[in-house]
Amino acid sequence: MTSQTVLVTGGAGYIGSATAHLLVRAGYRVVVFDNLYQGHRAAVPQQAAFVLGDLADRAAVSQVFDRYPDIGCVMHFASYTLVGESMERPFKYLRDNLVNALNLLEAMIAHGVKRFILSSTANLFDLPSDRAAEPIREDAPIAPGSPYGESKFFIERALHWMHRIYGLKYVSLRYFNASGALPECGEDHAPETHLIPLVLQVALGQRPYVTIFGDDYPTRDGTCVRDYIHVADLAEAHILAMAALDQLGARCYNLGNGRGFTVKEVVETARKVTGAPIPAVIGPRRPGDPAVLVASSESIRRELGWQPKHLDLESIIRSAWEWHRAHPNGYGDTHLGGEAPPALRDLPPASQREDKG
Ligand code: UDP
Repeated sequence: MTSQTVLVTGGAGYIGSATAHLLVRAGYRVVVFDNLYQGHRAAVPQQAAFVLGDLADRAAVSQVFDRYPDIGCVMHFASYTLVGESMERPFKYLRDNLVNALNLLEAMIAHGVKRFILSSTANLFDLPSDRAAEPIREDAPIAPGSPYGESKFFIERALHWMHRIYGLKYVSLRYFNASGALPECGEDHAPETHLIPLVLQVALGQRPYVTIFGDDYPTRDGTCVRDYIHVADLAEAHILAMAALDQLGARCYNLGNGRGFTVKEVVETARKVTGAPIPAVIGPRRPGDPAVLVASSESIRRELGWQPKHLDLESIIRSAWEWHRAHPNGYGDTHLGGEAPPALRDLPPASQREDKG
C-alpha cells in the first residue's frame, strides 16, 4: 500500500456502503463521494469522511483529490445500475455512466492517483443458453444484455487505455447478483426493483405480491437463473483486489458463488426464511434480462485466494431479512431532491415516445 486512504464513489449506496464499512473495519481511512441521489447518508460509516458531490461536476471531483491528497486508491461504485431502466433510457446509461467515470479517471490521473477498482457487472454476458449452461468465465465473449451492461464495458475499455497510456493499475469486478446485508447497512432503493428486497417487502406486508418476470425461459422452472452473492463477500473482494493491485496491473474478475437459483427458488426460500406466504404472480419478461447468469470465479479464487463465505441462498436471504425487519422503511430518509441530475432531463422513456415513423 502506498497510502491508506481510499476514495469510495457511491459509498452511500448498497454495495459501496458495505465496502466502506469493511474498509473502516480493516483500518483504512475512507472518503465517500456521493450525490445522495440514490444513496443514503445514514449508510455511510461514521468514521468515513463524506463529500456530497456529483461526478458530472468535474471541478467538484478534482477538489476531492485536492482536499484529500493522501488518496491512494479509488473504488468506483457510483453509477446508474438498473438493467430495465437502461432499456428505457439508454442515454442516461451509455452517456452518463461513461462520462462520470471519465471525469473521475481524469481527475485521478491529473493528481497522480493510479489505482482503481471498478464495480462492473455480469450483464456483460448475455450469452445464448448453450454457452451460459456452464458458469461464465472472464474469457467468455462479451455480449452486454442492455445499455447498462454496455456502459460498464465502455468503462472497462477506457480503463484498458488508461492502463496503457498512464500506467493506471485497475481491477474490474464483474458482480453477479449482489444480495444480503451487513448489520450496519442493507439494500434500500427508491423505487425498489431488485428481487430479494421486493420479496421481503411482500413478506413485511408492504406489497401485496411479487411479479415474476417471465416463466418461459429455457431454465429448469422457466424463470431466470441468477447467481446471488453476498454483499460482504463482494466487499472483501474489493479489499483483496486493492491490496494486490500493484502486482496485478490490469485484471477483470467475475464474482459469484458459482451456483444459480431461479426466481421461483428465491421466492420459495424467502417463504421458508420469513414464514410469510409471499404471493407471486407471473408477468411478462423484463427487457434486457438474460435467461441464465452464473459466474465462474475461478480466476479470483486462484490468483487472490478469494473465498466467498456465504454460500447458501438461505443464509443470504436471512441476512437481508434481518436488516429489512430491523429497518422496515429502509433508511427512512428522504432524498435530497432539488435539481435533477442532467440525465433525467433528457429524452422521455423509450416506451412513451411517439415517433414520426
Ligand atoms: N425479477 C423478477 N421480479 C421482480 C424483480 C426481479 O422476476 O420484481 C427477476 C429478474 O427478471 C431477474 C432476477 O429477478 O431475473 C434478478 O433481478 P434483479 O433486478 O434483482 O437483479 P439483476 O439481475 O437485474 O441484477
